[in-house]
Amino acid sequence: MSDYLFPVPEIRSLAVKGEVARYGVQRIFCVGRNYAEHAAEMGYEVDREKPFYFMKSATALEPSGETIPYPPGTDNFHYEMELVVAIGAPAFKADREAAAAAVYGYACGLDMTRRDLQLSERAKQRPWDLGKNFERSAIVGDIVKAGEVGEIGPQRIHLSVNSVTRQDAHLSDLVWKIDEIISHLSGFYHLQPGDLIMTGTPAGVGPVVAGDKITGGIDGLGEIALTIGEAD
Ligand code: MN
Repeated sequence: MSDYLFPVPEIRSLAVKGEVARYGVQRIFCVGRNYAEHAAEMGYEVDREKPFYFMKSATALEPSGETIPYPPGTDNFHYEMELVVAIGAPAFKADREAAAAAVYGYACGLDMTRRDLQLSERAKQRPWDLGKNFERSAIVGDIVKAGEVGEIGPQRIHLSVNSVTRQDAHLSDLVWKIDEIISHLSGFYHLQPGDLIMTGTPAGVGPVVAGDKITGGIDGLGEIALTIGEAD
């Protein structure tokens, strides 16, 4: 046992369908511009040169079903509905086959974004952390094991705000496929169990305000929900 000067919070974790034990989370990688129509609405043409990433702290992880306060420093708080991949085996310099074998399971996720801060950082060619990596910004639902999900592609991914559909696409629209992302990322990191990858959002992102209820889903992965509260 180590002695710590200040209380150390418990590691963040996710429930896994059919398991009593939980999936402890260490890192959250996020892929940018991974659906062509979303890249277009953000002012970019998607390219196949290479994927790019940003990160969220594991401490930003938030379970589905909660109410979070409208975050500080923004006037344009956006939802992004995403497929989340949970890594279940070490992957380093993995080819696509090894990358696919490293997937433990999948979950629904919301990459909550302070869009105004992200865009002003982007315009100045600065890092996106203020826009992307902040408290309670990574909402992730229960993990479903890969074997129960089958091939990624035909599943519908969708999101509604106050029961009005805002995002509606299919996982086959992903520009970079799951095995490609893991293979590429594993060239730069020793991926390991506990690593999550948020794989990007389809078109239709938009703002939410206090009182809004977000619900999203991916076929076979259940649903995710988030309520926006007043600013704290
Ligand atoms: Mn995103």
